[in-house]
Amino acid sequence: MEYRQLGNTGLEVSVIALGCEAFVEDNSNAKKFLDMAEEAGVNYFDLFSPDPAARSALGEALRGRREKFIIQSHISSVWKNGQYERSRNLDEVKAAFEDSLERLGTDYIDVGMIHYCDAESDWQTIKDNGIVDYVKQLKAEGKIRHIGLSSHNPKVAIKAVSEGDIEVLMFSVNYVYDMLPGTENVDDLWADSVYEGGFRNMDPERQRLYELCEDMGVGITVMKAFAGGDILDEKMSPAGASLTPAQCISYALSRPAVATVCSGARNEDQLAESIAYCEKSDEEKSYAEAFAAFPRVSWSGHCMYCTHCHPCPAEIDIADVTKFMNLVIAHNESNGIHEGTEAFRVPDTEREHYRVLAHHAGECLQCGLCETRCPFDVDIRNNMRKAQSIFGY
Ligand code: SF4
Ligand code: SF4
Repeated sequence: MEYRQLGNTGLEVSVIALGCEAFVEDNSNAKKFLDMAEEAGVNYFDLFSPDPAARSALGEALRGRREKFIIQSHISSVWKNGQYERSRNLDEVKAAFEDSLERLGTDYIDVGMIHYCDAESDWQTIKDNGIVDYVKQLKAEGKIRHIGLSSHNPKVAIKAVSEGDIEVLMFSVNYVYDMLPGTENVDDLWADSVYEGGFRNMDPERQRLYELCEDMGVGITVMKAFAGGDILDEKMSPAGASLTPAQCISYALSRPAVATVCSGARNEDQLAESIAYCEKSDEEKSYAEAFAAFPRVSWSGHCMYCTHCHPCPAEIDIADVTKFMNLVIAHNESNGIHEGTEAFRVPDTEREHYRVLAHHAGECLQCGLCETRCPFDVDIRNNMRKAQSIFGY
């Protein structure tokens, strides 16, 4: 298993995490799935369901090994009249959180995730109804260690992350959503009409969200990496061609700030397939050529951080150099400052990330070898010159 830092939380998380679909559909799966996860080194799981039976089963399965798992559990997902509801009622939210602690048999949750906010008005309601203050209080009391938010809408996520309290963002990341503008109703992303004209490049707001999270040290945990299974199926995929699960996971993990992909496995085979990701070869994980061959999608000129252009004879990590350069530009542009102007600055975080790279853009030989391998026609030589100019070496 591979591990990554989850933003600035200090948590080191496995790149594959466990979703809770299987526990919810069949409570008897909890022990079996946690056993598989533990054996494979999966140390992170997401619990969005408020179903008391699922929480109790998970608590039972966790007994004696709580410290082996980092728990991301949702706050404001409540159980009413025998079913799940998203609540913004503070009393209900508090009762559901306390119930969750008790059923899980723990006195703390690692990431307390404010559940499912896709509308700006809803984010305002969450604040007005005291839910943000409540999670801050839980953090101060040590009942949650970090504050999270789950969303599908980049507009809302940008707003919430920019306000500074969110440390972990659970976000839907797959190449189909990434090309679509945000919406307050996630079902809009599935409408047939959305896919009629084909696609070109990433939605700028989604790119901005990932860059903002990386810039602010907010770790992203991924949901819907397979777009509900559609992008695994050639007939359903809007691109007109399918990807493998490993390619979908690899794509999600190559977005800035992403630390882990939650597997919504519903059975042991599906979980085993996700866990096997780390054993796959680089060729099996690579999505670049598959993307470049999609009949109805184009990423021309846009760096996907896919590393397909590597290796470089000067040993430059082209994807990382390009990413840090783009982060600097995005940071400045979010403050209305454009490249080449006097106010343009390199933030300390990116300066340090760039500094510790083994080789820098200034070492580029301008040989152009990388460009023959880039499936997306990125002007890499120009990017290396630009990165050298921005960072100074
Ligand atoms: S320059 Fe091209 S091949 Fe290299 S990381 Fe970017 S998109 Fe991938
Ligand atoms: S052009 Fe520069 S970055 Fe590309 S392969 Fe040559 S030396 Fe490496």
